[in-house]
Amino acid sequence: MRMTYKEKQGLERAALAATGLVSERHAGISGIEFQMTYYRRGPDAVLMKRTLSFTPGDYAGFHLKCMEDGCTGGGFDLAPVVAGLVNSRKKSIKGKLFCHGDNHSVGHASIEYEVNIQYAKQTKEKLPSKAASKNL
Ligand SMILES: [Zn+2]
Repeated sequence: MRMTYKEKQGLERAALAATGLVSERHAGISGIEFQMTYYRRGPDAVLMKRTLSFTPGDYAGFHLKCMEDGCTGGGFDLAPVVAGLVNSRKKSIKGKLFCHGDNHSVGHASIEYEVNIQYAKQTKEKLPSKAASKNL
């Protein structure tokens, strides 16, 4: 099924709203950060690097789109990674995910990720500066 760009955007927005807020999904978290490196297939094929930050008031859009042109039904779902991290009350995890979408001309894209979670403290403290993540 082909959709116009506008229809696709609308669907994506609706899907994002349906995921709910970070605070609704995972209480007691003050911030989540994804540091990702996108790869095409090949030994040295870095496509891009990207850092995403979430606050409790953001939508929990943890499913990331595949950056390959023409990829459909693919992407990288970090929601289970975040859930696992929260369940174990750990702060950081690294790993790799592969896109299982269609229409990849040169094989499957992948990402390496590092997920960092800041847990809310009992006392109200200011979050550390996000300036460090801007280096990427
Ligand atoms: Zn893909």
